[in-house]
Amino acid sequence: MNTTTSSLSPTDKNRLIELENKLQVARDTFLGYPVSKDFDYSEINNFFKYPINNLGDPFEGGTYKVQTHEMEKEVIAFFARMYRANPKDYWGYVTNGGSESNLYGLYLARELHPKGVVYYSESTHYSIRKNIHLLNIPSIVIRSQENGEIDYDDLESTLKMNRHKPVIMLATFGTTMKEAKDDVSKIKGILKNLAIQDHYIHCDAALSGSFGAFMEPRLPFDFKDGVDSISISGHKFIGSPMPTGVLIAKRSNRDRIAKGISYIGSLDTTITGSRNGHSPLFLWYALKTLGIEGLKERYNHSLEVATYCEKRLNDIGIKAWRNPNAITVVLPKTSNQIKNKWQLATEGDIAHVICMPNVSKKQIDLFINDLENCKEPIIETEDYFEYSLN
Ligand SMILES: *Cc1c(COP(=O)(O)O)cnc(C)c1O
Repeated sequence: MNTTTSSLSPTDKNRLIELENKLQVARDTFLGYPVSKDFDYSEINNFFKYPINNLGDPFEGGTYKVQTHEMEKEVIAFFARMYRANPKDYWGYVTNGGSESNLYGLYLARELHPKGVVYYSESTHYSIRKNIHLLNIPSIVIRSQENGEIDYDDLESTLKMNRHKPVIMLATFGTTMKEAKDDVSKIKGILKNLAIQDHYIHCDAALSGSFGAFMEPRLPFDFKDGVDSISISGHKFIGSPMPTGVLIAKRSNRDRIAKGISYIGSLDTTITGSRNGHSPLFLWYALKTLGIEGLKERYNHSLEVATYCEKRLNDIGIKAWRNPNAITVVLPKTSNQIKNKWQLATEGDIAHVICMPNVSKKQIDLFINDLENCKEPIIETEDYFEYSLN
């Protein structure tokens, strides 16, 4: 059977060429979404020849052997250490993205606290609302502060009224629009004050989790700070040709929901059955080649470019700002011309530039130049559904 592109008709071959050109142009002019584009996985391209499938639990042996569980476990161990998990009590797997990781965190929380209520802020990523709906857990929305961080006073008074019910707390480490970080220590303090013992904290660190450990001063978000699970996206800060994510939880919690399945000879502990076996390999490759130092360098570069971008915008009279340690620069929404060219995610009155590791000062200069030369007025539109990609 020949399924390679050599059997494509000339017209279809042309379509591939056109598609590639289109993707290239789109990739090279975007500043609005948190996706790194500077990866090179050519050294492991030959693994596309194999039908890799990581079905089952990465920490249990299974019958299907065309898998990358060993690499997956190393990826999990890397993040477990970075998030200061108890070395004897961690577990996790490589997911299809931050949304699935969040689903898993909430699923674990619900299994442990079937009568629990989820608390999350207005600025929480849309995947949380959907996941809560899928899992059918009661939930309460908490106000956000102006900078996007959860309003601790509103959280405290709301928890006080519901203190007889177990608390499933959803903290965000890097909100979608403003990259605000909910302070897990403050949340723990509130739970302690109210003497609420039955609680579970899931940290949605999809965006900022990959560089949170390098922030100075540190912001509380990890296991040592008191969370029970953390999710991140692998295709954002690290970068990957396909969407991917990581979920880290406590092994002791996972053990309480594990069920053995004889058909696969493993434990059915993951959300999907068949699982992408290539993405753990990509993540493993990225972590091996970058190491902690490489990741830290990427963060410092991003931070420098973000600081530069904020300053350049302010210099031309645009009121741009950043949350502490953030690589996201928030600015008033721009004209459609600028928004479309630079693919700026826009919500209500604001837009943002996310200085991912591939963004350079030169690109910021081009962007500023476009802003300075743009004559198109900013038109008020209803754009509640603009932010649907990430
Ligand atoms: C991107 C993001 C998600 C969703 O992650 P995907 O990998 O796109 O599924 C969830 N939460 C936050 C805060 C995010 O930034």
